[in-house]
Amino acid sequence: MTGAPAEAVGVDVGGTKIAAVRVTAGGAVPVRARCATPRGTAAELVAAVAGLVERVRGERVAAVGVGLPGMVDARTGALAFAPGLEFARAPLRELIEDAVGLPVVTDNDANVAAWAEYRRGAGRGHEHLVLVTLGTGLGCGVVVGGRLLHGARGFAAEASHLTVDPGGVRCECGNLGCWGAAASGAAIARLGGSTAREHPDSPLARLTGGGRTDAGAAVTAAARGGDDRALAILDRIGTLTGVGLAALANLFDPAVVIVGGGPVAAGELLLAPARAEFARRLYSPGDRPPVPVVAAGFADDAGAVGAALLALDRLR
Ligand SMILES: [Zn+2]
Repeated sequence: MTGAPAEAVGVDVGGTKIAAVRVTAGGAVPVRARCATPRGTAAELVAAVAGLVERVRGERVAAVGVGLPGMVDARTGALAFAPGLEFARAPLRELIEDAVGLPVVTDNDANVAAWAEYRRGAGRGHEHLVLVTLGTGLGCGVVVGGRLLHGARGFAAEASHLTVDPGGVRCECGNLGCWGAAASGAAIARLGGSTAREHPDSPLARLTGGGRTDAGAAVTAAARGGDDRALAILDRIGTLTGVGLAALANLFDPAVVIVGGGPVAAGELLLAPARAEFARRLYSPGDRPPVPVVAAGFADDAGAVGAALLALDRLR
C-alpha cells in the first residue's frame, strides 16, 4: 500500500442506530454497514462501533471518525453528556482507539454532518456556513473560516436550546420553547399526531392510522395531498425554523444556510416558510449579498461521511 492514498472509516452514533461507511481519499463511499445502538454501557457501545469498523475497513484505512449524539469535549474527545444515553460521560475516543488500533477523531454528530456539507455537499466552496438538521432533536454545526466552530470546550453551536417560542412546549432541558423542541422532526410528529386525533376524519388521520402511528412522514404526505391542517403544521415548523436560522445568520454571517434531516423531504412546503421568516428577521438584508437557505446535499449518511472526511483531514 506504499503511496496509496489513505482512506477513513466514519461512524455516526444515533439514538437508535449506528451507521458506518468507508470513505476513499476521493470521497467515494464503497461500503456501508449499520447496527442498533446498544442501550447499555460505554463498553457495549465501543464493542458495537469496533464491530462496524471491522466490517467496513479496508487495508488503506488509516483513521476513524465518530459522530456522537451529545456534547463532545474538543480537547479529550470524550463524550461529556448525551441526553438519555447510558454511555454519557465516557472517554469514548480513547476507548474506541484502544478497540480498533487506529487514530480516532470524535465530534458532535451535527458538527460532522456540517463537515460533510462543507467538504462535499451543499456548502462546498463556502468557508462560512451553518447547518441545521431536523431529526429526533435539532442539531447544528457551524463552519467559520474553513474550521468547525468548537468554542472553549467543544460545546458550541448547541442551537437546539436557542429560545424561538417563549412559552412554547417544554424541552428535555427543562425550559420552554427551545428550538429543538419547537421545530424538530419530533415536533412535526407530535403536532401531526395530536391533529390527527382531534380530526379523525381528516386525510392526515387516515395516513397516520388515526394518530396511533408515527406522524412525521404522514404530515408531509397529507400536505402534498392538499390537507390544510398538515400544510399548517409544516408552515408553523418552517416559520420557527426560519426564526432560529435568522438568529444564527445574524450571529455568524454565513455565506449559506443548510437545512438537513428527514423533514426536508417536504421540500418547499417546509423551506418556503422558513425562507420567508428568515428574510423577515435577517438584519439589513438589502445591505448584504443574499444568504441562500438550501436543503442539505447529504441525506442519511451525512454524519458518517462527515466523520470520515474529518478524520482524513486531520491525518493531513
Ligand atoms: Zn432546551
